[in-house]
Amino acid sequence: MQRLKDLSEMAGVPGREEAVRTYIEARVADLVDSVETDAMGNLHALKRCGREGAPRLMVAAHMDEIGFIVRHVDDKGFLRLQHVGGFDARNLFARQVTVHPSAGGEPLVGVLNPASKPVHVSTAEERAKVPELASFYVDLGLSGEQVGQRVRVGDMVTLRQPFADLGEVVTGKALDDRSGCWILLETLARLERPAMDVHAVFTVQEEVGLRGATTSAFQVAPDIAVALDTTLALDTPGNPDEAHITEMGKGTAIKVMDSHTISTRWLVDAFIGLAEQNAVPYQLEVLPMGGTDAGAMQRSRGGAPAVTLSTPSRYVHTVTEMVAKADLEAAVALLAAAATSGIPVPA
Ligand SMILES: [Zn+2]
Repeated sequence: MQRLKDLSEMAGVPGREEAVRTYIEARVADLVDSVETDAMGNLHALKRCGREGAPRLMVAAHMDEIGFIVRHVDDKGFLRLQHVGGFDARNLFARQVTVHPSAGGEPLVGVLNPASKPVHVSTAEERAKVPELASFYVDLGLSGEQVGQRVRVGDMVTLRQPFADLGEVVTGKALDDRSGCWILLETLARLERPAMDVHAVFTVQEEVGLRGATTSAFQVAPDIAVALDTTLALDTPGNPDEAHITEMGKGTAIKVMDSHTISTRWLVDAFIGLAEQNAVPYQLEVLPMGGTDAGAMQRSRGGAPAVTLSTPSRYVHTVTEMVAKADLEAAVALLAAAATSGIPVPA
């Protein structure tokens, strides 16, 4: 779990995935035949099966996390932010953040709060309102002059949260989708002789519209495309049973559909078959909202068969995202089984 801890605590908002990419590149290089970074920043690792003209299996996991870019530095040194990725303002009160100066120098720790009055001096009406995302600001505890020298418009800001191993489950920030990156790395490490050429692509800018997967899928032109991502596990208080989407700890989720993709049916069936043959715990997922890199891969060029293997996650898009180790393990087992035995593409 050390590797997942490292990945979770690392900073990489859309367009600024370089630290995550460097970390993964160092660990993937010995596991594959070639590694390349493309113009957008996607890391493309290829493990060949050794047969000429073998089908291409593309597996995508995104490196970026939701976060912020500095939009304005005011005279007092307060930072105003542009969010990159989907936040719920209700999850952002009273958080510690890290500001990463692009001009160099050590990262700075600050606190994030909305421009509003504290409980002691606000009215009930004021307290009932959820502030706009744009009203949140960072306080670095430094003078306007000190901040002006170190922070510039465009610098990356990430939420700050230590990873914790709770035994059966882990919790931290950015498990969406560093847990997918972890699954892909772990699968490559276990893969001895794949039956297809495996194009493992660690993508960029998923959270702002599947942008990295769009170009990398064009380049790979996959015969089969699989996205690895997290999905909602609404098996918690406040959610009725019929709306739980997935349950944490009940296996990897084979996605039937979300709002970007209807998974290719024969591929869903193939993964169900592989899970059953290999005794891998799985569940089926229908997600009314949201999407994954599968959406971009499925619609690339003339189209590609695509599916997502999702890891059920509680508290998605908060710093308390929580996933079960057994579900991560199930995804590795299922993906490794698919790559090793091959998936026949129907004529
Ligand atoms: Zn994701």
